[in-house]
Amino acid sequence: MRCPHCDKVFPFFTLGLKTKGPQKLCPHCNKTMLLYFNSKVAALWFALLFPLQVFIFKPTVIGWGYNGTLSTGIVAATWLYLSLRLKKPGE
Ligand SMILES: [Zn+2]
Repeated sequence: MRCPHCDKVFPFFTLGLKTKGPQKLCPHCNKTMLLYFNSKVAALWFALLFPLQVFIFKPTVIGWGYNGTLSTGIVAATWLYLSLRLKKPGE
């Protein structure tokens, strides 16, 4: 994730350590930022990931002998992560 204030990149999981809810603190500059779901980005990633999931990931996972739901879960989590963005409060 990238901070909208200082433009520094940090791992997603460090966000949850200090605050709960959509308001987060940057581990670098300590300013408040808002976590939100970017529906435009989400739609783009969905259009890209959905065919991959149906035609490549799921058949591959099933071919390895696992349940296809496993691949759906991983793709859904990746999609959600890619669709989340940070912005300055009030923007
Ligand atoms: Zn920052």
